[in-house]
Amino acid sequence: MIHKIGVIGAGQMGGGIAHVFAQSGFEVRLADVHQDAVDKGIAAIRKNMERQVARNKLNEAEKEVALSRIFGQVGYEKFSDCDFVIEAATENEDIKNQIFKDLIPHLPPASIVASNTSSISITRLAAATDRPDRFMGVHFMNPVPVMHLVELIRGIATS
Ligand code: NAD
Repeated sequence: MIHKIGVIGAGQMGGGIAHVFAQSGFEVRLADVHQDAVDKGIAAIRKNMERQVARNKLNEAEKEVALSRIFGQVGYEKFSDCDFVIEAATENEDIKNQIFKDLIPHLPPASIVASNTSSISITRLAAATDRPDRFMGVHFMNPVPVMHLVELIRGIATS
């Protein structure tokens, strides 16, 4: 069962992914390189939820509950209870590989790791982790809270 979600990168896509998971009832840990980037990401999520409230897609109480489910941070110490982690950082293979290297020691062995990459090989990213069988591509579209389509991409070793 998936209860807690880790999201890496609080930019356009990571913010949107954290937004939809929190709105769907999941507790979300949202990480970026600097606290400023985390704060900016959460402020953007708040603004986007306020827009949903203005359009009657969400009420004020639901917005506050969803926001209270998002915990921003730098580093992965609090990712130790995440069942599913999705990386949505800058589109650069070296950056993503370094993220997975830093992340993996904090994760339970059973958790699933995903990348939102648009163009980097999932097989290659997976091969650089300790869990190529539990690694996959989960490609959300922009803007995430509006676009319902999500592509699920298998690497060669994805179980
Ligand atoms: P973005 O520039 O808006 O956000 C990237 C975030 O990653 C930034 O906040 C940055 O500070 C953070 N970051 C960089 N290095 C990091 C690190 N080492 N650890 C943690 N955070 C780090 O980019 P985006 O548009 O959100 O794209 C993110 C991913 O989503 C990319 O892989 C991109 O290919 C993919 N994607 C983008 C779109 C789109 O339309 N923007 C659509 C689908 C998929």
